Amino acid sequence: MIFSRFITLSLLTLLAGALALAAAAGRSRAASSASATQSIGAYTAGCIRNSAAIPMEGEGFQVIRPGRGRYFANPETIEFIVDLGKRVNENANGIILIGDVAQQTGGPMLDEHSSHQTGLDADILYWQHPIALQRSLTGQERENIFPQSVLNDQRTGVDDFKWDERIGKIVKTAASYADVDRIFVNPFVKRKLCSEYPGELWLAKLRPWYGHDGHFHVRLKCPAGNVSCVPQEPINTHDTGCGSDLASWFTSSGKIKSQKSSGGGTRPKLPDECIAIINGGA
Ligand SMILES: [Zn+2]
Repeated sequence: MIFSRFITLSLLTLLAGALALAAAAGRSRAASSASATQSIGAYTAGCIRNSAAIPMEGEGFQVIRPGRGRYFANPETIEFIVDLGKRVNENANGIILIGDVAQQTGGPMLDEHSSHQTGLDADILYWQHPIALQRSLTGQERENIFPQSVLNDQRTGVDDFKWDERIGKIVKTAASYADVDRIFVNPFVKRKLCSEYPGELWLAKLRPWYGHDGHFHVRLKCPAGNVSCVPQEPINTHDTGCGSDLASWFTSSGKIKSQKSSGGGTRPKLPDECIAIINGGA
């Protein structure tokens, strides 16, 4: 009897200990998930909880125009940029200049972009800037670099004098990452790359879009564990998109068709969670 009571007490003590441990583990899990980054919502209506700042430079990459405060990202995006820079430097002898990524909390920007809201979109210049290839840009130089168009003055095609043979290698390398969902490029840039790399299926990831003649725009997939991140429809990876899809962008005189107005349609709504994050309350 005494023996069994002893056992009961010991069991209770053990049980209490185990519960305390479990509670502690639960707390630390909660604490670590609160500090982990989450990309929330859609690329065009979303935000980032606990974004990270992209380092201003590393092997093969430099951030430009940091004064705009758009160098924040999901850590997966930073990992991608750091790795791509290294490969571009080693395999193409080139450099990637990183333009707009996202604001610290993500969310809509007042100008230019409708996306770049979840820290998973990054603008990368085509320009193989001669100074940046040699050394780190100064703070002032970084602020004063603007994307240079690769199109001719009539905007009827890529200008071969502005085109750098490294561009194809760089865009192809970027498209080779499994985490890269799609890359937006100007229709003329896609046409150029379709002719440089005929039939290669990575071209499927290149989505023709207006603008994008001074930079390409990489969009990463929703990272694992980012439970509120809204993915886009998957692209057809079996079709390069170099045929009728690309042709549909051009008029019979060889220009890019003008952009249809969105007709003032309703803008996508930000998730409530994002409104709190953007207002600084979460
Ligand atoms: Zn962009």
